[in-house]
Amino acid sequence: MINRRKTKSISIGGVMVGGNAPVVVQSMTKTDTRDVKATLRQIDQLQDAGCEIVRVAVPDLEAAMALAEIKKSARLPLIADIHFDYRLALEVIKNGIDGLRLNPGNIGGRENVTRVVKAAREKQIPIRIGVNAGSLPVDIDKSLPTADRMVTALMREIELVESLGFDLIKASLKAFDVPTTIEAYRKASAIIDYPLHLGITEAGIPPEGVIRSTAGLAPLLYEGIGDTIRVSLTAPPAEEVETAYEILKSLNLRNRGPVLISCPTCGRTEIDVRSITGQVRQHLAGCPKVLKVAVMGCVVNGPGEARDADIGIAGGKGKAVLFSRGQKIKTIDEADIVTELLAEIDRFPG
Ligand code: SF4
Repeated sequence: MINRRKTKSISIGGVMVGGNAPVVVQSMTKTDTRDVKATLRQIDQLQDAGCEIVRVAVPDLEAAMALAEIKKSARLPLIADIHFDYRLALEVIKNGIDGLRLNPGNIGGRENVTRVVKAAREKQIPIRIGVNAGSLPVDIDKSLPTADRMVTALMREIELVESLGFDLIKASLKAFDVPTTIEAYRKASAIIDYPLHLGITEAGIPPEGVIRSTAGLAPLLYEGIGDTIRVSLTAPPAEEVETAYEILKSLNLRNRGPVLISCPTCGRTEIDVRSITGQVRQHLAGCPKVLKVAVMGCVVNGPGEARDADIGIAGGKGKAVLFSRGQKIKTIDEADIVTELLAEIDRFPG
């Protein structure tokens, strides 16, 4: 059982973050934001994959104007990602954005930060203060470990925003290096109670990016740290969302769709576990049912796992035993395993 760290609760376009809310799954569009149609299409794909909040890059005024159009049709809360130009933040706030991601230190001094924070406060728009290990302020003592420098930079930004009477804050401390990221989040979570957005930045392409993200996010989530997550992959954004859910499902933090269990196979394997599992996986793609399916190769460890799952099979010589909700249903010929298994999955209430 994971004891989630208690954080302040904020609402991002109606999606609750922090407090007692479940860990929220985020992603980011990868289209040119000025292309309204393509960006909306990608937001729809993200929603279908289960994404709950979408971040959109706003590199210039044209993108900020396009985001106003996107916002009118998007069915998910949108966060504008702003760097350097405070006017872009003011523009998206005016146009009804749900959240901002910015680094107050790089939008041009206290006067500009004050303008943005004042506008965000008036519309009750949360700001994610995002610190990235690759762009830390140069005046922070370089002899300090990177994680400490990241936390110092974050606290500096938070204090600036707090001094302007603003507390709708979410924070992130991203690095490519996993131990540095874990250390930074642990340190930050010990001293602030704002919700934390977790991510391993520039994690790479799958499977490396998936593994790196999992290695970084899972220990933190297991310690109860983290209120939103994004898996940053060099891949279509829906894959980021699917990976995020797999991580959360593995830790029993969220339920979404099926869980597929299959044995690794060994010298005792009696059936073609790999082929059967592949076909079951294909059948389960996009399935909304919350159920566990187990494909096990023999009668040694197979029946136990198959019984524990909602639906399972345990292989035998030229046949398999089908289980449903812990009960043995029938023995089936090897040639019928996939058909019978898929039919049982379809019959399972969802
Ligand atoms: S379930 Fe059976 S076949 Fe599969 S790995 Fe375990 S012992 Fe081997």
